[in-house]
Amino acid sequence: MSTTPAPRPAVGPRPVTIPFLEGPRVLDQDVARAAELTKYQVTKYYRDLLATSPYRDQLKHIVEPSVQELTSPGELDTSGEGDNTVVPGLQHKYPTTGLLLVTDRCTSYCRYCFRKRLVGKDTDEVTPDYGVVADYIGRHPEMTNVLMSGGDPFVLSTNKLEAILDHLLPIPHLTSIRFGPKTTAFHPARFEDPALPAMFGRILAAGKTPVVVSHFDHVGEITDEAAASVRRMRDLGVQYLNQGVLLGRVNDDPQTLADTIARLHAIGTRPYYVFQGRPVRGASHFQVPIRRGVDIVRGAMSRLSGIQKTFRYIMSHYTGKIEILDVVDGRLWMRYHQSPRPDRVGRLFSRPYVEGACWLDDLPKDGPDPTDDVTSDAPRLPVAAHA
Ligand code: SF4
Repeated sequence: MSTTPAPRPAVGPRPVTIPFLEGPRVLDQDVARAAELTKYQVTKYYRDLLATSPYRDQLKHIVEPSVQELTSPGELDTSGEGDNTVVPGLQHKYPTTGLLLVTDRCTSYCRYCFRKRLVGKDTDEVTPDYGVVADYIGRHPEMTNVLMSGGDPFVLSTNKLEAILDHLLPIPHLTSIRFGPKTTAFHPARFEDPALPAMFGRILAAGKTPVVVSHFDHVGEITDEAAASVRRMRDLGVQYLNQGVLLGRVNDDPQTLADTIARLHAIGTRPYYVFQGRPVRGASHFQVPIRRGVDIVRGAMSRLSGIQKTFRYIMSHYTGKIEILDVVDGRLWMRYHQSPRPDRVGRLFSRPYVEGACWLDDLPKDGPDPTDDVTSDAPRLPVAAHA
């Protein structure tokens, strides 16, 4: 007599325990995946910083997950990165700049990341073939600089960065090579790599300017170690600028923002952008209403000297980088700082302000508006390669 084995109960993916700030919670992996939860990973250096920093209550929100991530509404690609991808891994939204996704990994993962659709995951958005990229750039002489982004480019070994440079440095019309790391805050020891001076020296020898756009969001991140790493690289001829995000519960008060800007200036990093938080799904709880943002930025500006306030308060919108200026008589005034259409740069416009608005799309149009014709697929600068 044969016996049929009883069917095994279906085994789903093992649940995961997420150490939310509000207390650990066990989630089905499917639920975590559906919520696009960003991977939880924090460097030892940053964990030690959190343990000792007087700013712990603010800095913890940068890397520690919150249950709000499960319900915060929004999109996963708020800036139209997919639409501006011209060859795999290369975005060409603004005529002069190419943006390369060189990795989908970071040393730690920011909970507010606007690329949470890809960071810490295996994505097909990372550049697979730098020969194809170099061929595209070579046919676009209007592109004068390339930004290596991701993910964090400095999770790649210096050898891998050098291999990417093999493709970029021979392109004559590239005048600068930019890197956009947060490693400067999460793992400054990365910049002690003895191979880095030769790499930056090679960029300089090719007649191009190496630029690091660091990502410090809070004065508490600019430790002595971080400052020393910036100084070491600056001594090699690397230019430093900083971009950060205005983040609820992290840096959304004038004094913290002013202290951060002043410290950046002190270590030789030019404050460049303070971004309005984006309406990213699972991260929009970090957004600060624009009117509050304007007040915070004005309060910070009033505490800074002229040589320190070199930054702009920017909304990186689908239609371009929009500088947020002021709310006057119930209208939000803005100006295009970067646009796919150079003729739109510098153009002022306004919309009725709605209390609590955090993004341009929260504001109604009540007349002709440059966003009508500033689209990411608008005509680019005329170039021979298009002929
Ligand atoms: S380091 Fe940059 S890419 Fe990585 S999670 Fe933070 S913001 Fe996103």
